[in-house]
Amino acid sequence: MSSPIFNAVPGAMSGGAPGMAMGSPATSINPFEYPTTKCSCGNEIFTAGVMFKEIPGIAVGSSNEKEYVPIKVFVCSKCGKLAPQDAEFIEKESKQIKTNLI
Ligand SMILES: [Zn+2]
Repeated sequence: MSSPIFNAVPGAMSGGAPGMAMGSPATSINPFEYPTTKCSCGNEIFTAGVMFKEIPGIAVGSSNEKEYVPIKVFVCSKCGKLAPQDAEFIEKESKQIKTNLI
């Protein structure tokens, strides 16, 4: 068994004011009393991975044909699918039209 990794970001999930956590230690919570994210295959273990987005060089003022922008994601350790929250986030973000990349 490897030790559990907690990636809880205070405020990010609750939608609370970010200023509230400033200067004080993270609110003491017990992650084990909350639901566990499951892959659609039923697996609960995810491993860290990196997705590379291929940005045309011209879009970011680079002379390279493409720039590879790494995006950290978590994938199911069993079937390799993106973690549901990552898939959701990427889908949401990809629908937004951004005019300024940098
Ligand atoms: Zn899976």
